[in-house]
Amino acid sequence: MSGIPKLRGHHLICLHFFNGRGYNREFVENLKNILKRTSELGMEISLGADDICRSCPHLRGGKCSSDENSNDEIVEMDQFALGLLKKAPGAKTKWHGIKEIIPEIFNFWLERYCKKCSWKDVCEEDPLYREFKYGKDRR
Ligand code: SF4
Repeated sequence: MSGIPKLRGHHLICLHFFNGRGYNREFVENLKNILKRTSELGMEISLGADDICRSCPHLRGGKCSSDENSNDEIVEMDQFALGLLKKAPGAKTKWHGIKEIIPEIFNFWLERYCKKCSWKDVCEEDPLYREFKYGKDRR
């Protein structure tokens, strides 16, 4: 694969707390590779399945199929994420530029998605996530 990695809206937020866990080895290796390339090249914001989804066992027919409603829910998450980040599909951006915005929007994301997310215990292992959630003194 060459060119600028494509990332969908919610991945622009959730992946700041990636700590090496994922659905399977292929998924995790691809994710690490994409994050490395993203930090070097930047990224293009995409709609729908992105370069992370490409190696996901839940991607079927180009749609997120982890359960019967997941594609609609994920698309809604992507739209909400892009609204918070004030980014549009097709825009090119840098990882550090997104990272600077995360502290400002974190609580909106926490309230709306993290509390009901099946990955929340994994994110809780990440020091940056705990810092945003509980404050620096309770990391
Ligand atoms: S296909 Fe669904 S579960 Fe898999 S990475 Fe994409 S959004 Fe996440």
